[in-house]
Amino acid sequence: MPRALLGVAAFVGALFVGGIVLPGFARDGQPDTDGARKRYKLSGTTLFVATHVVLAAGALGFGLLLAPLVEHFWALFAAANVLALVVSAVLFVEGRRRVPGARAADFFSGVELNPSWLGVDLKMFAYQPSLIGLWLLVLAFARLQWERHGVLTSRMLLFQVFWWVYLVTHYQREEFMLQTWDVIAERFGMALVWGDLVLVPFFYSIAGWTLVDDLRPLSLPAAAAITALYALGLFVFRGSNDQKNRFKADPHATIWGRTAETVGGRLLVSGWWGLGRHLNYTGEVTVYLAIALTTGACSLAPYLLPLWLATLLAHRALRDERRCRRKYGALWDEYCARARFRMVPYVY
Ligand code: NDP
Repeated sequence: MPRALLGVAAFVGALFVGGIVLPGFARDGQPDTDGARKRYKLSGTTLFVATHVVLAAGALGFGLLLAPLVEHFWALFAAANVLALVVSAVLFVEGRRRVPGARAADFFSGVELNPSWLGVDLKMFAYQPSLIGLWLLVLAFARLQWERHGVLTSRMLLFQVFWWVYLVTHYQREEFMLQTWDVIAERFGMALVWGDLVLVPFFYSIAGWTLVDDLRPLSLPAAAAITALYALGLFVFRGSNDQKNRFKADPHATIWGRTAETVGGRLLVSGWWGLGRHLNYTGEVTVYLAIALTTGACSLAPYLLPLWLATLLAHRALRDERRCRRKYGALWDEYCARARFRMVPYVY
């Protein structure tokens, strides 16, 4: 456990230092309540690329391989929990010094909205150990399969490719994170810290456990159907977020070949946003379902991930709509009348 703790802390620390010294893109966040915008340095793409360089150098130069990450999974999991607790405690103590009137419950939900250390926005930074940690674990499952069985099954390859494409398309549009609910509206406390350091890497890679010793072949039609489902989900997920971002940057943006249609000039009703109010959520759940489907039907465990995300996002859709109704008033009702369905057209 002490070695695991050291390892996890070194991993997060190295990414933190890398985020400071390596180049990134400067972008403005959404306006605060007082109209001010925070300036962010987005270095996720650089860190993701740098991780691949370090992995290649480690493997080729020093024979360092990732399989031990799975072998020491539970020690690393415990260590990440400890680190999440420590970071949350520091955030809570520091936040209480700056924000008078914070309550004990704020340890969980956070005291400050966007705290920084050494000029680094912590909430945006925390996505890096989260997503890069997830990618390392995903890779570790492939390496372990190779060590144990001397093969990489087509199921395992799909699992690798699906996560890699998901991450690459995330980093391609990293600035979309500045418009997300978490960054704009959620304070940074134990809930988000634990989600980033523990939940995403250790739970989102769950299908790897089933795949590592599963040597059953996957038929070509099944592989094609799962890939098509994945591609559709990713297309809707990334496409809808992209449409909203382009609309926020330019209300006259072109969506599906025509100038964006709006409600009151503020809410987009073109593209995916006219077909449903949260199809970006539906697209992402579909992506996770396709990832779970690479395991077939021999275990329920991998399906806990899409099930969990569907529950989280369905609940979030309700919370987000309450917020939008408060913010946009009658315009929101007009929008709901135009985009009648929440997550699944003609169903919900
Ligand atoms: P959204 O990106 O859907 O953002 C919701 C906000 O967008 C609203 O509060 C409103 O904010 C604005 N908005 C809503 N409808 C419209 C419209 N028609 N036109 C213009 N603006 C509109 O939600 P999230 O931030 O929750 O999620 C972002 C992405 O992150 C999603 O794709 C989601 O799937 C993903 N996600 C992934 C998670 C994971 O664990 N994998 C967890 C959580 C989210 P405003 O005040 O700016 O107008």
